[in-house]
Amino acid sequence: MKKLFITTPIYYASGKPHTGHAYTTILADVIARYKKALGYDVFFLTGMDEHGQKISDTAKKKGLQVQEMLDSVTKDFKQLWKDLDINYSNFIRTTDKVHCDAVQKTFSELLSKQYIYEGTWKGLYCVNCEENYTRDQAVEKEGKLYCKVGHELTEKNEPSYFLKVSKYADWIQKQFKEKDFIMPQARVNELLGSFIDKGLEDLSVTRTSINWGIQTKEDSKHVIYVWIDALLSYLSGLGYLSSDDKNFKKYFVDKDSEVVHLMSKEITRFHCIYWPILLNMLELRLPTHIISHGWVVTKEGKMSKSLGNIINPYDYINTFGSDAFRYFIVRQVNLEKDGIFSHDLFVETFNTQLANNYGNMATRIAGMLKKYFNNTVPTFNKNALTELDKKVIAAEKKLLSSVKDRIQHFKINPLLDDIQDQYNVLNKYIDDAKPWVLAKDPDKKDQLSNCLNILFTSAINLMILLSPILVKTSKIIEKAFNLQLNPENISKDWSGHKIDVLSPLFARVEKSK
Ligand SMILES: [Zn+2]
Repeated sequence: MKKLFITTPIYYASGKPHTGHAYTTILADVIARYKKALGYDVFFLTGMDEHGQKISDTAKKKGLQVQEMLDSVTKDFKQLWKDLDINYSNFIRTTDKVHCDAVQKTFSELLSKQYIYEGTWKGLYCVNCEENYTRDQAVEKEGKLYCKVGHELTEKNEPSYFLKVSKYADWIQKQFKEKDFIMPQARVNELLGSFIDKGLEDLSVTRTSINWGIQTKEDSKHVIYVWIDALLSYLSGLGYLSSDDKNFKKYFVDKDSEVVHLMSKEITRFHCIYWPILLNMLELRLPTHIISHGWVVTKEGKMSKSLGNIINPYDYINTFGSDAFRYFIVRQVNLEKDGIFSHDLFVETFNTQLANNYGNMATRIAGMLKKYFNNTVPTFNKNALTELDKKVIAAEKKLLSSVKDRIQHFKINPLLDDIQDQYNVLNKYIDDAKPWVLAKDPDKKDQLSNCLNILFTSAINLMILLSPILVKTSKIIEKAFNLQLNPENISKDWSGHKIDVLSPLFARVEKSK
């Protein structure tokens, strides 16, 4: 059986989950479900990054114990994932013992192999982003130095352990050129141009000035600093270096398992450079793909606290349902560009693609089956096909022939384009074939049967294709139509199939809120 290990980044546990987090997680869940439908054995990992100075500072500000705050933040994330039908296989927290153990053991291994050495770290640091800056990378404004997001940088000078990444600049460039290692390809040029071409500096991997993190076993003054800690969660989440590492062996070590890391573009650099180097030092395989998607932006720009444009997923989930939110997010995800989130666009997408196409189509077909065929799908008669019927069947075949390729290459949005096109084909088919006219003519009985049979089969196919996204709605359809929306039922002959009553789905919403 083919296998897939897919991950989201671990999310920084300093506040409530927002639409940006949901964006990556929904996409990962949808890919995982599509791959399962193709027969993959999937392990889907998500989790929380719970270490660092900002976390302990935030807890202090709120007057909470750090662990108490983390438990509450993690609870919010898990609740949102539950409400959004995110079907992860494991949820790793960097405060989990299995993770802390794996990080300490890995640090010791790297130290004993001399990939890590002791030195002094001098440089600029952003407390907010927990990121080191060289003088070159810092943004200067009126004599002061800022990080790229705009936080003021502090100067530091402290003992630190370093990871010898500088020797790997050539090696990593070579990996980048491997086909599809980093998706989309445009990201590779950004990385090569802005970063690697200048050469790599050894990476500071510990701090003595941070207290909330994993201490090294060798020297308790040193706390392992963000990236080694965070990146290793991809392995500890599979049980790496623990007494139960069967998932690690099955989904990571096994070369037949596809390893896919999904993330937003701003953290791609760390993943594409330090993660492969770290894996190489540990004599482990590299990921199959690192997929970097654009941001979800509003009219004001990237969602941020300072712009006050952060969208709370519940504003939409509570009004439109979690399926509509999942659908809209996947519809707007674009690997090359940023995806736009606006209320008007949400409502428009909801009305045209879910209410009109998905919902209305299902209701109309159920209505006609009730009216003309006593809730039973009529027989398909190959010898009585009209030109209109043949056109619809051909369009259907064309759509189905590209599905597998779309999914294999993570082209979910183009797949949705194809599906919406097919809905347009079916809507036009109903307008042109006019089943209500056929029903009045006893000589057109075969034509009416074929029309309803084709409509039912095609609509079910589209619902099967959308079931990895529309999780809750699919269950309603399965009950009403008395069938399973699974891949084995694609283009099944439904002649004689009995359906139950279908209530309306996705009621249209007026644009003004
Ligand atoms: Zn910053």
